[in-house]
Amino acid sequence: MYNGIGASRGIGIGHICRIIEHDLSFEAKMVEDTEAEKKRFQKAIDSFVEDTNAMAEDIRKNIGPKEAEILLGHAVMMSDPAMSGEMFKMIDSGQCAESALTAVCDMFIGMFQNMEDEMMRQRASDIADVKVSVLKKLLGIKDINISKVAQGTVLVCKDLTPSMTSQIVKENVAGIITEVGGNTSHSAILARALEIPAVLSVPGIVDIVSDNDTAIVDGTEGEVFINPDGDILSKYLKKREDYLAKKAELQKFIGKETKTADGETLELFCNIGTPRDAKKARECDGEGIGLFRTEFLFMDTTYYPTEEEQFEAYKEAVETMEYRTVIIRTLDIGGDKDIPYLGLKKEENPFLGYRAVRYCLGNVEDYKIQLRAIIRASAYGKVKIMVPLVTTVDEMRSVKKLVEEIKEELRDEKIPFDNGIEVGCMVETASASLIADLLAKEADFFSIGTNDLAQYTMAVDRGNADVAYLYSTFQPSVLRSIKYIIECANAAGIPVGMCGEAAADPLMIPLLMSFGLDEYSVNPVLVLTARCIISKWTKAEADVLAAKVMAMDTKEEIVATLKAASKE
Ligand code: PEP
Ligand code: MG
Repeated sequence: MYNGIGASRGIGIGHICRIIEHDLSFEAKMVEDTEAEKKRFQKAIDSFVEDTNAMAEDIRKNIGPKEAEILLGHAVMMSDPAMSGEMFKMIDSGQCAESALTAVCDMFIGMFQNMEDEMMRQRASDIADVKVSVLKKLLGIKDINISKVAQGTVLVCKDLTPSMTSQIVKENVAGIITEVGGNTSHSAILARALEIPAVLSVPGIVDIVSDNDTAIVDGTEGEVFINPDGDILSKYLKKREDYLAKKAELQKFIGKETKTADGETLELFCNIGTPRDAKKARECDGEGIGLFRTEFLFMDTTYYPTEEEQFEAYKEAVETMEYRTVIIRTLDIGGDKDIPYLGLKKEENPFLGYRAVRYCLGNVEDYKIQLRAIIRASAYGKVKIMVPLVTTVDEMRSVKKLVEEIKEELRDEKIPFDNGIEVGCMVETASASLIADLLAKEADFFSIGTNDLAQYTMAVDRGNADVAYLYSTFQPSVLRSIKYIIECANAAGIPVGMCGEAAADPLMIPLLMSFGLDEYSVNPVLVLTARCIISKWTKAEADVLAAKVMAMDTKEEIVATLKAASKE
């Protein structure tokens, strides 16, 4: 048995398909038969163009036309004589196809990389992508097409990138195992959205397993079994059946209000990353959007999206939610999320660097584009603005000042918006937590980002497997912090929600009920689980449990006590 981090619940059983990073080195040699070499090169290009067009078509159908365009652009690029003509000329002079491809691509990459225009600089990374794909064709390296894997496949890879996740057909992938990544890495969040059991951070797993090995992925406990014996296999087949039966049971909570066992109504919202996810939130019976992570809109393009493009995206989410609350978080870039065209500097400590609201307030003209788009969308429903990574009162004041300026402009331009649009603060740093009483005077609402709060309170990189044993929202320090933030919000009379992953944790829910949390924002697929857990606890029971664990000194003791009291 191998241990890792259970990042997406459930039991997956299937056959392994490894996704391996290939060595692309080659020996640059001179060729005699240049005609044959040109033919070999043309064949590689044709095959690349054919695959790319097919992949673009899949993406167009599964994701959307805009996303497909990027790939279509790659195919067009390789068919462009300005580029391939140069390569053929080099082959004519006796160079091998690999050398010609690399030399010409590198020349263009160098040229585009140094341009002022961000869109042009993005061309450099497009050409780098094309170079790698055509080189693989020439070297006879076959990439696994994730979208075409057979039903019952367990994907094993070093890291699951968002682009790999976007190719996954959820009916075919039974489980995911990776060597790196933590519970709150964005890949983990995507795996949960797809409802595929996943265990992350299993050291060396890619080399331990072989293709077609049988694997059991227990995403609830964070355990992996390779080629298990008959007893283990039948135990886990049964466990899978029980898990699926329990999941089916949850359907009875659909369409119900979110109420505690003693009848108090709470709000159960969803976290989303795209306007399309808002549909999923509705299908899953989410009562609003507690966190719209807007950075995916910025990551999916090759340039800073225009006000109109952003407005359309926010409006789509708002209209989908039909007057239910939609909390839109302004750009939270940096840390583990890079956007190449923004040209962010490489930093020694990206999680402590120029990111989120710090970056936005340093680039006010761009920030105003986003704020304007959000404020305009407020004319179509109930929109709230949320500011990430706040550490000082001044940051909140600066954002609020910009919001007022924009409202004034829109008024002058006779563009409609909600004059009462609220501006809330994400409390996710140790500093924000310690000054929660002061921030509560500035903010219209709080939302606790426990993914980062645990990271910044414990001084633990949330994606680093070596220190994952410290990264937990059940650490006494993190629990005290959560309790204090909620108390400050309650004392100031502002609503307080939680949009970190802890809001959906069955062990955490009774504590949050006791502390007085108003709104729980969870991954859409966890709405019914959270509603079910909330329905099982009275405030009085939750208070007794909270008093007990808040007097304990270790995470281990706390988790064991919560597990023993669990009503799951
Ligand atoms: C958080 O930090 O808890 C959060 C919800 O934001 P993100 O995971 O996007 O950093
Ligand atoms: Mg965060």
